[in-house]
Formats: sequence, C-alpha cells, structure tokens
Amino acid sequence: MRPEVLNPLFASADSLKGVGPKLEKPLEKLGLTRVKDFAYHLPDRFIDRRVVANLDDAGIGENVIVPLTPTQYRASRSGRGPFNVMATDDIGNVVSLTYFGRASYTAKKQLPLNERRWVAGKLDQYGDALQIVHPDHVSEEGGAAFGATCEPVYALSDGLTQGRLQALIEQALGELPELPEWIEPGQLAKREWPAWRDALLLSHKGAHKAARDRLAYDELFASALALMLVRADNRRRKGVPLKGDRHLRDKLRLPFDLTGAQKRSVGEIEGDMAQQHPMLRLLQGDVGSGKTAVALHAMLIAVEGGAQAALLAPTEILARQHYETLVEMARGTGVEIAILTGRDKGRARESILMGLLDGGIDIIVGTHAIFQETVNYRNLGLVVIDEQHRFGVGQRLMLQQKAKGTAHCLAMTATPIPRTLTLAQYGEMEVSRLDEMPPGRKPIDTRVIATERMDDVVAGLQRHVAEGKQAYWVCPMVREHETEDIAAAEERFDALRQVLGENAVTLVHGQLRPEIKDANMARFASGEVAVLVATTVIEVGVNVPNASLMVIEQAERFGLAQLHQLRGRVGRGAEKSVCLLLRGNTLSETGRERLALMRETQDGFRLAEEDLRLRGGGEILGTRQSGEQAFVVATPEQIAELLEVAHDDARVLMERDGGLTGSRGEAARTALYLFERDYGVQLLRGG
Ligand code: ADP
Ligand code: MG
Repeated sequence: MRPEVLNPLFASADSLKGVGPKLEKPLEKLGLTRVKDFAYHLPDRFIDRRVVANLDDAGIGENVIVPLTPTQYRASRSGRGPFNVMATDDIGNVVSLTYFGRASYTAKKQLPLNERRWVAGKLDQYGDALQIVHPDHVSEEGGAAFGATCEPVYALSDGLTQGRLQALIEQALGELPELPEWIEPGQLAKREWPAWRDALLLSHKGAHKAARDRLAYDELFASALALMLVRADNRRRKGVPLKGDRHLRDKLRLPFDLTGAQKRSVGEIEGDMAQQHPMLRLLQGDVGSGKTAVALHAMLIAVEGGAQAALLAPTEILARQHYETLVEMARGTGVEIAILTGRDKGRARESILMGLLDGGIDIIVGTHAIFQETVNYRNLGLVVIDEQHRFGVGQRLMLQQKAKGTAHCLAMTATPIPRTLTLAQYGEMEVSRLDEMPPGRKPIDTRVIATERMDDVVAGLQRHVAEGKQAYWVCPMVREHETEDIAAAEERFDALRQVLGENAVTLVHGQLRPEIKDANMARFASGEVAVLVATTVIEVGVNVPNASLMVIEQAERFGLAQLHQLRGRVGRGAEKSVCLLLRGNTLSETGRERLALMRETQDGFRLAEEDLRLRGGGEILGTRQSGEQAFVVATPEQIAELLEVAHDDARVLMERDGGLTGSRGEAARTALYLFERDYGVQLLRGG
C-alpha cells in the first residue's frame, strides 16, 4: 500500500482548481496527470528581472520592474491593430505598453489612467519609441508585494499559457506534504542539500543547483533501490543449480576458437548457473562480437545439467535466424532444437508443445510465443533473452516469473552502454562484457558524402551489385512521422528498381504485413535479391555476410548508437565492407562531430561514451525506446555525477543500515512509491 502521506501527490490533475476538460489534453501532453507531476514539472529557465527606478536605468532588451503612470489609451481605428497604453516613468520617459488581441479590457482595468502602477516586462525599442509588449505583471504595489523578481519559465503545450501553468504548479506546490528523509544524514549534510519539500519549492524559485541535484538524486536512489530489491529477492529464490559435465560441449565442432572474452563470459555464466539462486546476468557485446556462440554454450550447460533452455528473440526474423545458426552450430551434439513463434499453428505447434512438455525438445528458440500460458515446459532451466534493450526491467521480470522465477536468466544486448548507464539500467544484474572482437574482422571503410552526390552513390551501388555483392540502403529518418519514413523508403525503393531492375531490390518497413516483411527479408538473406531498402526496422542481429555495402541517407538524423548498429550489418563476410553516410547540407557542429567520429572509430563502447557526451545519452537509455523512460527528473549530467553515489547509498542502506525496516527504511519505501518503481514495490508487497 502506498504510504498515506503521498496520497495528495497522487490525486488526479482535475483536483486542482481551474483544471477542466479543456485543459486535460494540453496537460496530458506534458505528462501532467497527477498533482505530483506538476510539482516535478521543473522550470526550463528563469526570467531574472531587475527593479529599476526609471527607464534611464534599464537597458533595451532587459527584463525590468518599473513604476509607470498611464497617460493615454490608443486603440487602432479598425480595432484589429494593437491596443497601446501610453505611460510615463517618474522622470518623464514615455513608453508604450502594447497589447495584441482582445486584451484592451484587461489592460484598461489593470492600468487606469493617471494612477501609478508597477509594471514587469521586457523593455524593447520600436522605431524610436520605448515599448513593453504584453507586460508580464502589473501591480499597485512594488517590492515584496509584487512577488518574485525571478520567474520560472515552463515547457508548455498548445492550449496552455505560462500564467495558467504557473498558477497550477503553484497550487500543486501548496499541496506538498513533508516527507520523512530517506537520504543518509551524512550525505545530506556534506552536500548541503535541502529537505525534499524545500528542494521542490526552491527548484521552482530559481536556479538552485543543490535543490535540483537532490531531486535528481532521489530519483536515482529510488531506482537503484528498486533494482537492489530485485537482486535481493533473486538471491532468496531457490533455483536449480545446473552443472554441465561437458559431454555436449565436447561434441561441438565450431569453425573457430572462442575469443578470450567469449571464454571468460562462458566461465562467468557457468559459475552463476552452478549456484543455488537463479542467474541474472547481462552479456554486453557489440554487434558481431559473437554473443550467439556464448548463448549456445550456456544453453548446452543447461541441457548437460538435465534442463531445457529457451532463447527469446524480439522478432520473428531474428528468431528464425537464431534457430538456423544454432541448428548449424550444434550439429553433431544430438541436441534437439525447435522454433516456436506466434505464426506456428495447428499440428506443427501441437507437436512442439508436446516436445516441450515431455522433454523431447532441449532448446526452444522463439518470440514471446514461447512464454504463452499454453506453453508448458518439462524443466525449463535457462532463459536467454536476446536484444535485451527491447525489453524494460518490468518485462524482464515478468519473463523470469513465467519461468516460475527459478530459471537462470541470461540477457544479451548489442547496445553499447556507457558504464554509468549500465548501472542505471541493469543494476540488478551481473555484467559480462565481450570487449574483444573475433579475429580477422576487416575494418569497415566509412565515408561521409554530401547528398548532392546521390548519382555517384547510385552508380557505385550499381557497380557493387554488378560484382554479385549485396547492399543495404537505409532511408532517411523523419523524426516525428513514421508514415513519412515509409513514404521516403518506398520512393527510394522505386527509384533504385528503375536503375537496378525490378528483381534486384526489395523493401522492408514497419507497416508491411509481418509475413511479407519476412519474405522480403528472406529473399535478401538468401542472396536472391541484391539490395534491401529499409527504414530503421532492419533488425539488429540480422546476418547477411555477402552484404558489404551500407548506405545511410540523412545520417546526421540518426544517433551514434543507431548508426553504429546499422553499420554493424556489414563487415560480416570475407569481403571488405563500405559504409556511406549521406549527409544533408545543413549540418550542426555536433552533427559534424558525430559523423566524423563514425569515420574514426568502430568501437561501440567508445561511440556510446561520446554520444553521451555530445547529446546527452537520451538515445542510449534504451528503455526510452521501449516506452519506459528510465529517468524523468535526472538529466544526463546529473546521472553521470550522482548515479554511483545513489547506488552506493542504496547498497549501504540495504546491507548495513537495516534495509527497509527502521525509520530510514520506512522513508526509503516512501521514495520507492513516490517514484513508482513498481517492480521494486511489487516485491515489497510480496513480502
Ligand atoms: P552478435 O550476436 O554478438 O552480434 P554473432 O553471434 O552473430 O554476433 O557473431 C557474429 C559472427 O562472428 C558470426 O558469423 C559468428 O559465427 C562469428 N564468430 C563468433 N565467434 C567467433 C570467434 N571466436 N571467432 C571467429 N568468428 C566468430
Ligand atoms: Mg546477435
């Protein structure tokens, strides 16, 4: 149960005065649906006003508060132009207070003629005349009665004004309870952070770094604590230790030796699986680093130990590819491998379900379908989740629970995540890193080319295809509208078919029916079609070694991590590969720097770190892509600065300071509920 003290914060937005049906949409757009959302809608910036005695003291463009006396109203004759209130300051300077729209009524009421008023606004010059357009505030009295000289400016949506939103936030701030302190007293004192309520109030009043940092820390702390609860809960669970005797692995005849990093990872996994409590391990390895071989070893350990293993892929295409790879690699081991996706129906499906139930199938590869209720296992001992970043923490836990909460779990991701963020996203897991590429990889020749040279690029593609080689062509990304992405892809598809021939090009995008998408993909994978035109949906992990050219249109629109993923599609065969990054004409400084970086390095981890530096890491926080935003309050800078501290503090609380019992533990519980770390909270409920 949520602590009662938080109830006013979770009251819905319409409990605030002035929120009716008309505001619902605009508020929802900003994510403001509950009182607490308003309190946490922190200002983007502040307008700093200076109180001046008269306009001689004010600079043009400056935000000021100045006493003025209205002398005359001037409406335009048509009634459609601006309404002007002419006024003088105390030493006779004339200024016009200009109102557009239907504001004359309000203006007259606020600014009666010949009565001195304090006016706040930005002083401008219009021709020779001084002007203040739409004064922000007008008051009879100056000084303290006038209110803040430092005014917050909030992010808005259509249908909202600053004044309106300010008033609502003001109301919400009035509802803030005092909350018990969850931050360790020493930490709080050392950093001179205000208490929770004060921190929120101060954050709306001015640029208070300490206050903002505290609020960010709270969020990071709650998150770290939730992950730690998951971890602790996991340690309490009794799993089945799986010890492999190598009899299957010894029969493996892979065409290569494992790299040092692969061996180390397999060793770590083997160690985990031999433990009582279920493994929770993340295998992080760049595209092409050889995660599949590691997964296969893990699954064979499970089978050697008498259990079944499941490999979960995010899409049908990936599931099929994994299936084929695994069957090929495991040939000669006698291990029974099957595939199950949502599209398997009838007899075939029945026989697979039977095999899972009676243990005839050792390894199952598939999509979510493998965890449907109707699917029962004889003895599922290991779940491998590929492309983990597609699944948020919540989903991950759900999957594990489907495996009765006792199966060992190996998550794999090709998304290189900076170290700091790994902790944020995967804090509950142990991490193995494949930081070494299999030998013999040729670097991908990456070039940045202006879009105007499209003809040259197409000619190059033509030559490439004429040599019997394949290519990917990734279409521009129009950020807001998926339909526009698709339109662009279809256009490019048509254009390339004109040049290369009807049967030389195929198309994949998100709105194609799955079976068509798969069929098109399959024609490309089999080599039947030379060029694959795609929106960014080309699946991470798709493996077509004969494809040695990657063209990416409007590359500047993609994040570094994404470019890196895309480029990773090529460079998988014996052939030297090329990646062409086509850039538009208007390239920002950052854009230029990012493309240059792509040319310079192929190290995914380095690119991830740089991406974090250059653009704040929003993209790499993979959970955002899956719709589960990791952090709302903390900025990337604050994450970098405070995450480890928050993590350590959470650990100390759990391991030394009495966990969630005791008064600080009680407070920490409140923080979990406040930040809706549901997965942690659910475990609290469970006991
Ligand atoms: P990832 O899933 O990490 O992107 P894959 O598992 O698909 O990478 O492996 C990429 C390619 O590298 C595959 O063709 C695989 O056979 C090959 N490979 C994996 N490990 C090695 C190794 N140790 N030596 C040489 N080739 C390897
Ligand atoms: Mg893979």
